[in-house]
Amino acid sequence: MAANIRLYLDQEYAPGQSCALTQAQSHYLFGVMRLDVNAAVTVFNGRDGAWLAQVAKADRRKGVLTLIEQSAPLITPPDLWLLFAPIKKARTDFIVEKAAELGAARIMPVQTDFTNAERVRQDRLQAHAIEAAEQCGATFVPPVDDLVRLDRVLADWPKDRHLMFCDETRLGAATSLAGAPRGPWAVLIGPEGGFSPAEHARLSAHPMAHPVSLGPRILRADTAAVAALTLWQSALGDWA
Ligand code: SAH
Repeated sequence: MAANIRLYLDQEYAPGQSCALTQAQSHYLFGVMRLDVNAAVTVFNGRDGAWLAQVAKADRRKGVLTLIEQSAPLITPPDLWLLFAPIKKARTDFIVEKAAELGAARIMPVQTDFTNAERVRQDRLQAHAIEAAEQCGATFVPPVDDLVRLDRVLADWPKDRHLMFCDETRLGAATSLAGAPRGPWAVLIGPEGGFSPAEHARLSAHPMAHPVSLGPRILRADTAAVAALTLWQSALGDWA
């Protein structure tokens, strides 16, 4: 029974368990994809790996699945956080989607001195992370935090977490992370206006910060996020 459709369903999983679908999920499975009773679907809740499920009720508004059995184990990404200053809506959505695909474990929008956004729609960003996980075959969904001030985050910084500080003032050859320490890390990307002089000074002096260059050109924040996650994953993460 092949199951190509993947759905995130946040509930407890056990064989034989019934799962009520939301109206949007019911519409997608039975209105758009036209699945029938007994069709197979893959579901995941971010904790229990992937599960094979079967359509019990093909109702376009209130469908029901029955869980059969676990079909794949949970695969968690490396312990990498992405901190970024939110930018325009579509570009922020892009950053969240790519971070989930590239394997960030936690996504943290941060407000910096030059960030325009005063709030983010956390629920909408979380929905983008879920959709990305559904599409890319992941069994884990990175949590998306609410917007916090960068100075607050730095004030409570975990002692053992390295910080890949993407510093646009260091244009030139991209910094190699070969030989960088292992363990928990975070990537930090600034806003379109860059970091303020005060933030730059504080980050440069931070004991866990590793200032890095992403090459000889100034990248837009969304490109910089993808480049930084790629560099980190290929040197220290689960691509290595
Ligand atoms: N307005 C700034 C550029 C900000 S780019 C300026 O003109 O200098 C947005 C963010 O992307 C930066 O804060 C940095 O975190 C990251 N970034 C972009 N290009 C980079 C590069 N070549 N090296 C390191 N970080 C870079």
